[in-house]
Amino acid sequence: MHTVTLIKGDGIGPSIIDVAVKVIDATGVGIEWEEAYAGMAAFERFQTPIPDETLASIEKNRVAFKGPLTTQLGKGFRSINVALRQEYDLYANVRPAKSWRGVRSRYDDVDIVVVRENTEGLYAGLEHYIGQKKEIAESIAVVTRLGAERIVEFAFRYAKDNNRSKVTLVHKANILKYSQGLFLDVGREVAQRHPDVEFDEKIVDAVCMHLVMDPSQFDVIVTTNMFGDILSDLTAGLVGGLGLIPGANIGYDAALFEAVHGTAPDLVGKNLANPSAVILAGAMMLKYLKEDQAAARIRAAMEQVIGEGVYVTPDLSKESKAGTKEMGAALINAMEKQS
Ligand code: NAD
Repeated sequence: MHTVTLIKGDGIGPSIIDVAVKVIDATGVGIEWEEAYAGMAAFERFQTPIPDETLASIEKNRVAFKGPLTTQLGKGFRSINVALRQEYDLYANVRPAKSWRGVRSRYDDVDIVVVRENTEGLYAGLEHYIGQKKEIAESIAVVTRLGAERIVEFAFRYAKDNNRSKVTLVHKANILKYSQGLFLDVGREVAQRHPDVEFDEKIVDAVCMHLVMDPSQFDVIVTTNMFGDILSDLTAGLVGGLGLIPGANIGYDAALFEAVHGTAPDLVGKNLANPSAVILAGAMMLKYLKEDQAAARIRAAMEQVIGEGVYVTPDLSKESKAGTKEMGAALINAMEKQS
């Protein structure tokens, strides 16, 4: 039996997490879900976006499964997502984008994993105004040797563990000679320790163009925090959108699994949100918990249901008449019929 901290989140979070929990439970893996609150949902109940009880639960269980959380633009409390990643030193953010049969997209053979540094860079939270009039603002990008080394090492280990043959380090060292320069220098050193995996380095703006024109040249991408955030939305667009992209936030001894997408305020209460991203995040969590067979069953059910294109949410098929709940039911049905 595993105990997992469950944070349903804001916006579409509770609706997609409820479906995902049913699908994960249908694998038969014993999981005790310990519900905790964060974000707006926590603020409304406890007047804080991250109650101590939530931190204590993650501290104890070391594995969390969460829905998206609202972060107000340019005001209000700081991003709880960023705070959680820093609190538990979840330094590696893994965001796979794979083409699906049955989903219309520009390419049908994309298979790219973005490995994003998750605790430093421009998202380190070091920001301030200079002067009283708010006419100058500074955000500081932090790159450390330790941070660069462990994320590039993670990317190479991930490549080996998952039978992948190439790691591309993405940077902007031609302009940001210190912070990005350090990331690139350390990355090159780490690459020398892994001669059995092909290594490439590319500048981020060129990568955007190459990803759109020929994504087949990419396998594992490793990059700094903000570039990884942006590039993983780009790779999502190559395979049918954010509704299909899970994310794992991994540290030395803790991990948090979620979708890449946000709270989708435009879809709340409409039974239209695609639950696939959080369900795939659930499959990543099962692999992390060494329940590989259960993860594979979920993946196979998704391939079947998405491939048939009937019980899928409208973002995946214009002809679809199904919603979040119907897609979840179809996945459970497909799993029950697996031989
Ligand atoms: P968003 O990801 O919520 O939405 C972007 C677009 O993608 C919208 O058109 C939305 O309808 C669509 N979309 C998102 N999820 C979908 C799904 N499951 N199925 C179908 N379509 C889906 O991004 P946003 O609008 O920029 O952000 C909304 C809020 O979410 C903000 O407060 C933001 O800070 C927060 N956010 C949270 C996380 C997180 O908790 N990890 C991540 C990103 C954004």
